[in-house]
Amino acid sequence: MSLSEQQVVGLLTGMRERLAVLEEEIGRKLGDSADDLSMLDRVGDSGDFSNAIASSEVDLSEALRDIEEWRGLRGAMRRIDEGRYGFCVDCGVEIPFARLQAQPVALRCVDCQSRAERSSGAHSSTM
Ligand SMILES: [Zn+2]
Repeated sequence: MSLSEQQVVGLLTGMRERLAVLEEEIGRKLGDSADDLSMLDRVGDSGDFSNAIASSEVDLSEALRDIEEWRGLRGAMRRIDEGRYGFCVDCGVEIPFARLQAQPVALRCVDCQSRAERSSGAHSSTM
């Protein structure tokens, strides 16, 4: 990857802090259901997860939003480990550092992101 080690460390530090905040929030929202946060990695999608905890009295949409962000961050950290971080998943171009700073979980360059949003109904810009 072309990001400097310093840039990667900076991004990772921010992501770890955000993960800790999210885990606390998710834990608070889900209570006992989130004792084992590793379960979030195993569910196929948030639909499965919402079924799993549908019986608990939680604000699902809020918790799911946190979980989506949490999973995005975990995915980004995995891509850093694998050396694939910072490249657009669609066209392979390098994603500018400024964009990664603003949105560490960005998977695509700006061009591909806007194309993906157009084709998917433009309701989500978080990824
Ligand atoms: Zn692209």
